[in-house]
Amino acid sequence: MIDIQLSSKSNLKNTDFNNLGFGKIFTDHMLVADYFDGNWQTVNIIPYQPLVLDPSACCFHYGQEIFEGLKAFKHSDGKISIFRPDQNAERFNNSALRMGMPEIPKEIFIDGLCQLVKIDQNWIPTAEGTSLYIRPFMIATENILGVHSSKQYKFIIILSPVGSYFSVPKPLHIIIEEHYARAVKGGTGNAKNAGNYGATLLPTNLANKHGFDQILWIDYQKNIQEVGMMNVMFKINNEIHTPSLSHGTILDGITRKSIIQLVKDMGIPIFERDINISEIFEASQNGTLQEMFGTGTAAVILQIEKLTYQDKTITLNIDTFKTSSALKQTLINIQTGAKKDTHGWLTYI
Ligand SMILES: *Cc1c(COP(=O)(O)O)cnc(C)c1O
Repeated sequence: MIDIQLSSKSNLKNTDFNNLGFGKIFTDHMLVADYFDGNWQTVNIIPYQPLVLDPSACCFHYGQEIFEGLKAFKHSDGKISIFRPDQNAERFNNSALRMGMPEIPKEIFIDGLCQLVKIDQNWIPTAEGTSLYIRPFMIATENILGVHSSKQYKFIIILSPVGSYFSVPKPLHIIIEEHYARAVKGGTGNAKNAGNYGATLLPTNLANKHGFDQILWIDYQKNIQEVGMMNVMFKINNEIHTPSLSHGTILDGITRKSIIQLVKDMGIPIFERDINISEIFEASQNGTLQEMFGTGTAAVILQIEKLTYQDKTITLNIDTFKTSSALKQTLINIQTGAKKDTHGWLTYI
């Protein structure tokens, strides 16, 4: 049961849909569910508003915060779809488990976000490259400073109409990070928890200062993990290669999963395996490295033009990146209803 309290006024009229940016504008409503006494209590949809929390709330001290990111689209026939919310619900609960937080019933997660999107459906932008970004998250709210799993939590969903993640989509210049690590075996790399991102900000700022857009993260054996907040793929010798999830250091991306399926649909061989950076430089040298790209909800696919490691830089011509361009267009077409959803990825509301 969802308790709904509608906002008495809307900010829709004051919103400039030609200048959305990413995650800067929020809709009229939010969903909040509280967890205490070992159970999720009433689910509420209320006007978008600040939270009131005690300064001793656990989330301010010991990092129990997890989140998700997914998108809703308005099709040209007016139908509204959400892309693979079941996958986000499942990953959210995997993150909760890893961070010692309670799981949330899939029905609360999926029905909650469907209802919220329905209420704020007039906020879904329709211009090319735009969508309604959905941000579910959970914070620990018990007011106690002892280090332990909180006994109280808030599950919240907010919505943001978004344009392209990078205001001017541009080919990326990536640096392979040698000093700092994002995730290690046995750590939390495969959970979508706040701490993972906090740890990447200093290295990313330093990389930006040196003129690089993003970092390619590697492990201590120099095997490739991820690029920024995206999974990464390489086209080598007419095959796609992407790091495997087997070490628990890589986020199980839903875009990654979907692109893997689309690659198979195209009849292109795909390999999930350990990829050492030395292989990428060898492939570049012998002319078999054809494409490099990141995958993630926000940008779908971002093509990588240059990759730098120490004093060596690989430069590819992204105008020749036919496979990743086709994959991106196919996935966007499925999401926006321009192409048949043969895999049943869309949930209509
Ligand atoms: C969210 C995220 C991704 C991409 O996952 P999608 O489900 O495709 O959006 C990749 N890497 C990291 C570190 C992430 O947080």
